[in-house]
Amino acid sequence: MDLREKHPDCFVCRKHQRKVLIPGGAIYENDFVYAGHAQVRKGRTTTYLGYLVAEPKRHVVGLADLTDTEAQALGLLVSHLSKALKASEGAEHVYAFVLGDHVQHLHVHVVPRYPGTPREYWGLHVDEWPDAPRGGPREIAILCERLRTYLETRACGPENKRGDRPAD
Ligand SMILES: [Zn+2]
Repeated sequence: MDLREKHPDCFVCRKHQRKVLIPGGAIYENDFVYAGHAQVRKGRTTTYLGYLVAEPKRHVVGLADLTDTEAQALGLLVSHLSKALKASEGAEHVYAFVLGDHVQHLHVHVVPRYPGTPREYWGLHVDEWPDAPRGGPREIAILCERLRTYLETRACGPENKRGDRPAD
């Protein structure tokens, strides 16, 4: 089986192939994984800033379908995105979760919780806080550029590619 096989009707596969473009583009990408910002939903002009999605390149439905190599790459990516959201965007906490009820291509939601978020919005409803930072395609693109810069210079820099040891 070709591990790079793409599904023509899958939004995530199409995004990886640049057949659909998302605001901000790829925040990080290698042979196994891809990360980008969530889109602005139809009928709206803004979205919750910093709402990221991390995916394997291969079209698989769930975490149980990943090879160990893909799982390692995805776990590392989720951790690095979380570091970036805290350091670059000031998140006080980062949520990560998989639902997958609608889109049949595994995607991990990586979502910052910003300081001041009222307790009733903590968890899956964090993006519903009316006073949360929101933005359109331009703000998303700027945010993605900050995250790329952080990842290139810090979390995914050459230091971390030498091995899996935690930083001293
Ligand atoms: Zn797919």
